[in-house]
Order: sequence, then structure tokens, then C-alpha cells
Amino acid sequence: MTVTLDQHGTIAVVTIDNPPVNALATPVRAQLFDLAAQLDNDPGVSAVVLRGAGKLFVGGADITEFDRPPEAPTLPELINRIEGAKKPWIAAIHGTALGGGLELALGCHYRIATPVCTMGLPEVGLGFIPGAGGTQRLPRLIGLEAAAPVVAERLVLDGIQAAKLGLITGVVEANLLDEVIEFAQTLNGHLPPLPSARPLPAPTPDFWDVATARIAKGSKGQAAPIAALAAMRFGLEHGFAAGLRHERETFLRLRASEESAALRHLFFAERAAPRPAELRGTAPREVRTVGVVGGGTMGVGIAAAFRNAGFAVILSERDESLVERGLANINAVFTAAAQRGLITEKEAADRASGVTGCAGLEGLAPCDLVVEAVFEDLSVKRSVFAELAMICRSDALLATNTSYIDPRLIAEGLPAPERFIGLHFFSPAHVMKLLEIVPLPGYAPEVLATAFDIARRLGKVPVRSGICDGFIGNRILKRYRAEAENMLRSGVPHSEIDAAMRRFGFAMGPFEMQDMAGLDISFMNREAARARGEDVPETPGDLLVRAGRKGIKTGSGWYDYLPGDRTPRPSSEAVRIIAPLVAQSSPCPADEIAAHLIAAMAAEGQSILDEGIAKSSSDIDLVQVHGYGFPRTKGGPMFQTARKAKS
Ligand code: NAD
Repeated sequence: MTVTLDQHGTIAVVTIDNPPVNALATPVRAQLFDLAAQLDNDPGVSAVVLRGAGKLFVGGADITEFDRPPEAPTLPELINRIEGAKKPWIAAIHGTALGGGLELALGCHYRIATPVCTMGLPEVGLGFIPGAGGTQRLPRLIGLEAAAPVVAERLVLDGIQAAKLGLITGVVEANLLDEVIEFAQTLNGHLPPLPSARPLPAPTPDFWDVATARIAKGSKGQAAPIAALAAMRFGLEHGFAAGLRHERETFLRLRASEESAALRHLFFAERAAPRPAELRGTAPREVRTVGVVGGGTMGVGIAAAFRNAGFAVILSERDESLVERGLANINAVFTAAAQRGLITEKEAADRASGVTGCAGLEGLAPCDLVVEAVFEDLSVKRSVFAELAMICRSDALLATNTSYIDPRLIAEGLPAPERFIGLHFFSPAHVMKLLEIVPLPGYAPEVLATAFDIARRLGKVPVRSGICDGFIGNRILKRYRAEAENMLRSGVPHSEIDAAMRRFGFAMGPFEMQDMAGLDISFMNREAARARGEDVPETPGDLLVRAGRKGIKTGSGWYDYLPGDRTPRPSSEAVRIIAPLVAQSSPCPADEIAAHLIAAMAAEGQSILDEGIAKSSSDIDLVQVHGYGFPRTKGGPMFQTARKAKS
């Protein structure tokens, strides 16, 4: 049984027991629907308490059902049935009431909750809007202004906030069920007016414009948030019943969209990534103090990320002045967060005081984990690890943040090799969500479990990668860039390639990205290879660097830039310089350009999968979305290609 019924005097207690999150799957809805009729006709029942078993009320609808047509009784049918019951239903909310779970509670006549619960409508994050009355009932309870951020911007409320807004009838600290049963007894079967009978006051004159602008800005081109707001407006202008119909139509339409399929794909990928099956039952080591070696671009971000998550951090640099520089840059991260209102001044000061510095590596002896982020140079990294292996406890984890060097070479010949691991962060490391976790041969499962546990504590999306040049992400990036350059050489103008990828949803195209990062480092790498006698053909990028165009930092690269302005401006000079290496201009439709480049990324992803470097194609999509700016609404290159193959 997924729904059980108990009776306490004249009060019926209906419990949803569908682990792990009491999702409103078809059997649950069917049983609740039947119970509603049964309890209506039971003269021994004066009121019904609806609750969830275990840690929460209801986590939401059953998303695994969303690829099929809705099955009866649908959630709106169930909620309408409960709302129309002859006796009052009271939702007793503890833990979580999200999505369909909150909509179910909104269909009850009363709601009573614990103070520390979570209530929200996160549907827009999955590409659709609440589809069972959320956009209509919530504003009628708490007003349009308060409802908009919940419905369209995924704001979650706790019990106290919900009570202040009038979303719930009361807050109960302890013994929720007993208290709610007691409340139910006092009702004597009394039913309050239904939401449809509640007036919905019009908002202030500029409300819709202001809310639309804010939501459009935050939703990064996603359709659902604006549609959720529009559904609320429709309900205001056309009434409750029409509002419900409009909401349901919009929900079904968006649920069937490519965007929603992509977002659901990522939802499941993100849920699976932190829990690799092989680590089930393996306990992580305790990590409290983290050492970071190198206070440059990456070290600063990595140190800030650990400190933000509550770890004590020790930063090591080559000398005192570099320690000071590193600490100052880490403090600047906390100060900036305080200035943006994300943390208080006191929190910023507390975080800063939890980061200490040391010149040399000896000060890292107390660390449970050390992350190395020194120059990308094998001999420098090897000497750092040789010293760390002597200084640190033998059970301390030693991690490298290398981008391209084979970690086996870095750890070669050192004692206790099972404690080495690659932890590949992305820049800026306190912001970017991706963490590539690279175990070395002979790793201890406990070490891998600790890496995943650290990712969880840092709020990162962990993806396990095998060892290859560039691991998963940079290897695909290399292929993407190579394919973009091939297109360029075949005559497709670089500005059109960039524009096509922006239209697809990237923040910038591959050539704009090069201008931002600087063209000179890869140029120097190619020159070094040429000096070693390798056959590396001249590239258009080489021609630009030789002409002094190294990217934004020199005011010109693939594009021209005005001083202090990072906006790329088309450059006839750049086009002239690269002309000897590119075919005559032959424009290509934007969607063909994007399709070609995404297919190249997916082909490289497939090789990565075939070689066992990635564990799943959804892991590859996570790498692209969380580390490389692949548009979330497109689900990732592997998802895109699989969808194309199906259609
Ligand atoms: P960086 O040049 O900005 O910083 C390196 C720092 O290491 C310097 O401050 C240097 O003084 C310090 N250092 C060098 N030897 C040291 C030693 N023996 N002890 C203590 N400190 C020492 O480099 P970065 O961009 O931060 O890159 C660091 C590592 O991270 C590299 O392996 C790089 O490949 C990798 N990485 C970089 C990025 C990126 O976007 N920059 C992204 C992911 C990974």
C-alpha cells in the first residue's frame, strides 16, 4: 500500500508512503482519489488529515511519468476532488512540500506546517509550469506579488515565512500530527471558502512589467518562467476556472517541449552523478583542513571555494610576498560577496580569518587534503608532490588540479600512491560548478569516496574522468575548437561561427572565447612543438599573434576592442591577416554551423565513452553544461545527438 488510512475518533488520517520522496505516482493518486470518495460517505469521519510518511510531506509529481500521456486520475483531477470534498482536509506538512506536493496541499482546506520545512514550486527549472493549480491557488492565498517569485523564480519558503504570507494556517513546533488532529477536531466539519471564491486583488500598475523584466533577466532565455507569470495573469484577467484550464494547457505544451526534455535529462544526470554505484557502502575520510599549493588564478578560487564551504584553509606559496598576494586575492572574493549582499560583512571577516598562509610546504603538515595548483609544469609538480609525500600524514589525500599533465607521471614513484587523485576545478573555482574527479590506478575506494564527498560539501557537480589528454572537458573543447577552425579554413567567416553558437545559447562563440583567454599561450605551445621538430601547420591564430593581436588584453585578436570594453567588434584587419589560410568566404546557415559543431563535440564524447574515460553519456553532458557554458536548455551534446537520432 502506498497510501494508508487510520482513524483517530472522528478524524481520518491519510498517509502517503511512497519512498523515497512520496512522489504522486499514478497508484498514489488513484488511492487518494478513491479515499476522498470513501471518506465523504463515511458518517464516522468529520475531517481528514493528509500527511507524508518518513522525512517529508510530498516531494512532487513522479517525473518519470512525464514522457507518457497523463494517466487518470490526473493530479488536477485529484486536487479538485479533494478541494470539493464534503469534509475539511488538512495538510500536515513536515520536511518538504514541493511542486505537485505543494499543489496538493493548496487543494486542502487548511495547511499546518513545521517551522523548518521547505515549500516551493520548482517546476520552471524543469521547463514547464505548475500544472495542478499552483499558479491559480497560490496567488489567491498570498497575493500576486508574493506568489510570483515562488511560481516563476523558484523561491522556496519555510514554515515561518509561509505563515506570515498566509500560505499556511499555522506553525507547529513539535508533535505535528497530534496538534493537527486536535485542530481538526475543533473544526466540527467546517469548510472555509474555496480559493475560487476568494477575490484576487489586482497588483500595482507596474507589477507585470517589473516582474516580467526581472524574470526574463533571470531565466536566461527559458520559456517556462515567463509562461508561469503569464498563467497567473491569465487567472487574474479571466477568472479561476479559465485560469486552471490555461495553466493545464501550458503545462502540457511545455512538458512536451525539447527544452523540458533537456532540463529533465539534466535533472536526472545531476541526481545520479554524486552517487556512483561502486562507492555505495564506502565511507569517506574526514576532511577539515585543506591545503592549497599555489595562490595564482586557480589556487585563489579553490581556497575560496573550500573556505566558503566551511573548511579551514592553508594557502602555500613560494615566498612571503606571494603568500600575502594570494591571501589578499582570496579576501577580495569574500569582500566582493559581502558587497553584493550575498554574505554579511561579519561572515566575510570570518571566512577571511579561516584562511592562513605559509611560505613553502612545511606548514601544510596538519592538512587532511592538499590540492596542488602550481604552474602547469611536470617537474615543478613532481617536486611539490615529492615534498608533500614526506610532510603530510600518510592518510592525507594529495590532489592535483592539472589540466593536461598525466597525473600518473606526477605521482610516479611516490609512497602511498593510493591517496593521490586528480581534482580538476574550473575557473573561477569558487563559482564554476564542475569538478572532474580523476582517480589514479590503484586508488583506494575511500579516497574516491572522499573526493565525491568533498564535491558534495563544496556544492559542485562531480564527474569522474579517466586519464587522457585534457580529461573529458578539455578534450571535447579541443575538438570543438579544431572543428571551428576547419569551418573557418573552409570559408565560413569566424564572426558567423561565433554568432551561430551564441544563437544556439552559448554566452560566446569559440573565437570570442579565444580572444578572452588570450591567443598567445596556445601559440607558444605550437611554437615549442615546432622547435622540437614536430610538424605543426601554421594556423590563422598564429598569423594573428604574429601581427600582435593576442586577444582582449592587447585590444585586438579575432576582433577589435575599445579600451576598457570587452565587446567584440568585427575587424577587417583580422580578416585580411588570416586570408592566406582561409578559403573564399562561403556563408553557412547558423543552425547548420551549430549542428556541425555540436555533432563534433558529441563524436568526441562518444570516443571518450567508448574508451571508458567517462562512465556515462549524461556525465559528458554535465561536464559541458557545468564547465563549458553549454546551454542548459539544450541538455548537452550527447543529449542533442541522441534526440536527433531518435527523430
Ligand atoms: P598561475 O600561474 O596563475 O598560478 C600558479 C601559482 O603557483 C603561482 O602563483 C606560483 O607562484 C605558484 N607556485 C609555483 N610553484 C610553487 C611551489 N613550489 N609552491 C607554492 N606555490 C607555487 O596558474 P593557474 O592558472 O592558477 O594554474 C594552476 C594549475 O591549475 C595548472 O596546473 C593549470 O593547468 C591548472 N588549471 C588552470 C585553469 C585555468 O583556467 N587557469 C583551469 C583548470 C586547471
